[in-house]
Amino acid sequence: MSRTLSQHRPRKRFGQNFLQDAGVIARIVAAINPQAEDHLVEIGPGEGAITAGLVDCGATLDVIELDRDLIPALLASYGLRANFTLHNADVLKFDFSSIRPSDSPRLRVVGNLPYNISTPLIFRLLDCTESIADMHFMLQKEVVERLCATPGSKLWGRVGVMAQYQCAVEYLFDVGPHSFRPAPKVDSAIVRLTPYQNSPWPACDRSGLRRVVQASFAQRRKTLRNNLKGLIDTPALEELGIDPQQRAETLTLEQFIAITNALSNATHYE
Ligand code: SAM
Repeated sequence: MSRTLSQHRPRKRFGQNFLQDAGVIARIVAAINPQAEDHLVEIGPGEGAITAGLVDCGATLDVIELDRDLIPALLASYGLRANFTLHNADVLKFDFSSIRPSDSPRLRVVGNLPYNISTPLIFRLLDCTESIADMHFMLQKEVVERLCATPGSKLWGRVGVMAQYQCAVEYLFDVGPHSFRPAPKVDSAIVRLTPYQNSPWPACDRSGLRRVVQASFAQRRKTLRNNLKGLIDTPALEELGIDPQQRAETLTLEQFIAITNALSNATHYE
């Protein structure tokens, strides 16, 4: 027997913390500013807190929800809308290109994300930014701080470097635990990621950059010299004006790009 949305018992394993604060919901929808000509994708609509504000403007809306117990009530609320499509699927396995015809507008991806999958999901979405116009996410506040971090901060790491390489990243606003049912143990925040149409960075191979960043941060307390052993030698780092004794968290995005570009020039391989 299907349950109505209000009877649904939140499941921890699906990261279910449902938004219940009308003021916060309105603020999120206003930040997204959906337009009738948009193609929106909502990840984890849950009980539909944000969904109504998205579907009402007439935009094309695809929602991806893993918990099959939430499906009947979502269909009862929105299933008859011509602009609404529900996918009962795991977003980590979802093929975003399958819902975007080649000549159609790029996707606007939104969601109050299940916190347990947010970082792998962001990396996955960074792999298909050519299909994405922008992304608005509610995340654990610390993850938003990592996305927006600057060099020299303890929060500057893999996710911040890769996100800022591909997107303009904006910290929008904080949301406290009591805006959710049940209240999570941590603070949350809203972030906007807007993929660059024309990269502001010099030519750089993205998968090469990812390898360099991953190796550089492999052991945060170790120096670049140690973490990059086998990838680039000390003189090559010095040639780039980078002190091999530095730690990865002090390097700017431009310096990670410089290392990657030097590596694509085979003479610098160790
Ligand atoms: N959007 C709703 C809200 O703001 O109240 C629910 C947000 S809740 C934090 C996360 C939602 O993502 C839940 O509905 C959960 O079932 C769904 N979810 C969890 N893991 C998922 C996955 N791998 N793929 C798709 N949806 C998922």
